[in-house]
Amino acid sequence: MKKGKILLVGFGPGAPEHMSQRARDAIAEADVVIGYSTYIKLVQDLLDGKEVIRKGMTEELDRSIEAYEQARQGKTVALVSSGDIGVYGMAGPTYEVLFQSGWTRDSDITVEVVPGATALNACAALVGAPLTHDFCSISLSDLLTPWPTIARRLEAAARGDFVIALYNPKSGRRTGQIVEAQRILLLHRRPDTPVAIVKSGYRRRQAIQMTTLAQMADCEIGMLCTVLIGNSSTFVREGLMVTPRGYANKYDTLTGEAKHGEQAGRSLTMGLTGWHACVRRHLRETPEANLRDAAAHFDAPLGEILAAVVEAQPGDEAGAMQARLVATEHLDTLFTAAQNWGQIRAVVRSEAAIAEILLQAKDLTRKGQWLNLVNEHCHLHVDTGRIASAWFFSHDGQQHGVYLIDANGGLIASLLLVKVGDHFNQQTLDSFRKASEQLGQLIDTGEDIEAEEECSDE
Ligand code: SAH
Repeated sequence: MKKGKILLVGFGPGAPEHMSQRARDAIAEADVVIGYSTYIKLVQDLLDGKEVIRKGMTEELDRSIEAYEQARQGKTVALVSSGDIGVYGMAGPTYEVLFQSGWTRDSDITVEVVPGATALNACAALVGAPLTHDFCSISLSDLLTPWPTIARRLEAAARGDFVIALYNPKSGRRTGQIVEAQRILLLHRRPDTPVAIVKSGYRRRQAIQMTTLAQMADCEIGMLCTVLIGNSSTFVREGLMVTPRGYANKYDTLTGEAKHGEQAGRSLTMGLTGWHACVRRHLRETPEANLRDAAAHFDAPLGEILAAVVEAQPGDEAGAMQARLVATEHLDTLFTAAQNWGQIRAVVRSEAAIAEILLQAKDLTRKGQWLNLVNEHCHLHVDTGRIASAWFFSHDGQQHGVYLIDANGGLIASLLLVKVGDHFNQQTLDSFRKASEQLGQLIDTGEDIEAEEECSDE
């Protein structure tokens, strides 16, 4: 018997000229073509003489099962979908059906996925160049995905400054999702962020609306639309939505010359190996900034700022800040040493509230994995299992203390020495410094100090 074949074909956005040659050939090769009725209509003129099986929108698995059944009879079956069949399409479900039936790569049904331009490519091309930098796609359909998952992805994408393509943004029944998505995105992105809404791209009823994030949900949006939302540097000019490639950070756009301090073919000074040096330079140039200010300036976790400070070298200081890293196996010794620091201030923060607790260092005790700071006025319990790093930190004359940092670089709590009058108690300070020298490590990154001074990336 002839070997069966399943061709999973994405035919692009809809216009015949945007279909790939392989998609066309694959459909020509097929004995049977299966697809959602709207998709079948879009490839109608390629279907002469073929068995055509039209399925409804909700009969997704049926389409895969049908393809498998037909292929088992030795036929060549094309399962067609718009865009790319692997993007919110039938490629995944078809493999799942095949695997459930015990199919392997060696069995007598061959499978080929034929890629196509997905809606986000097509829609982006129609509105300019919005996807030139990191982007992601999120489907707002909660038919198969729980809303908290979708909300978490929206939040993460917004926070990560991705350009976002929203698939399945709205339907007759699902009208609230786009409103909720807008609300989440507005928590992190400016209201005037450019948004393009493309309906039926490269199809007969193509329509494009250019708008902003603040207005997005008031626009006409339906199932045939893809919504493209810019990142913080996306702009609109001549009615076109453009996301810069990032080159403006490095090259002068007119002359093409690398900007001062940057080198062609090398990571930016703010690249992985260079950006801590930029933090130190910022701290030198902004002596009034505290750790938290610097974290806000670089939109980076506090732990990263501490790491930048700890890497300071003569000639590449972090302004008046100094830090030392405490290995986690020394946490117990650290807490024992801290009991000699007289009065201390434990600081715990959330985004909108700060708790500052004054206590005597001797109130500090350990029980199992808990560090307890307990007196008659307050109880503070810190889960030491969550401490990923601890740092001795000094900001000359202003602050001395220990920062406890979690795995994301976020602050769990800080334990700070308290001034008596205008000064730190000398004995306490000596005890703090001694502990810092005994337990804390400086980190030598082994990098070229002179180059770091230039805030260069090598
Ligand atoms: N496999 C398809 C996506 C299917 S999900 C692809 O790769 O493009 C269906 C969603 O895709 C629609 O709700 C819409 O958001 C988007 N979409 C598909 N074709 C489109 C087109 N021509 N114009 C605009 N959006 C489209």
